[in-house]
Amino acid sequence: MILKVRKHGDPVLRMRALPVKEITKEMLTLAGNMLETMYAVDGVGLAANQVGIPVQLVVIDIGEGPMTLFNPRIVKHNGEETSGREGCLSVPGLTGEVTRWDKIVVEKLAENGSASERLEAEGLLARALQHEIDHLDGILFIDKATDIMEEQAENEV
Ligand code: ZN
Repeated sequence: MILKVRKHGDPVLRMRALPVKEITKEMLTLAGNMLETMYAVDGVGLAANQVGIPVQLVVIDIGEGPMTLFNPRIVKHNGEETSGREGCLSVPGLTGEVTRWDKIVVEKLAENGSASERLEAEGLLARALQHEIDHLDGILFIDKATDIMEEQAENEV
């Protein structure tokens, strides 16, 4: 099911998402619908806030297959920052330069829901994850961006 992507100005985008206690069937259905929505609008990432549900759930596909992350948080970075242009499905038609960590380690709930596991990310995946995790904290890229321009982003998240 394709969900409505909330746009800048919608208060849900400014809410802090609640942690997922258990990966229920409903949560998996939501994740599936978010992936379907993300593909339908040609995005590479989507946070649950962006479809109006403030829970800590993110989906991403940077062209290497779908990823679903419950309760993702950054636990480590390599200290190196890099600047890059970003756009957001919730802030259509704008891009801006955002500084992000180069390489990160993200902790998330394991698929069985009983433990946490870690994944390493760099490049576009690291950038997309940081953008989405910001969404879960009610932060939009325009809060951090410099050189904001009216244009369509290459990879919207
Ligand atoms: Zn976004």
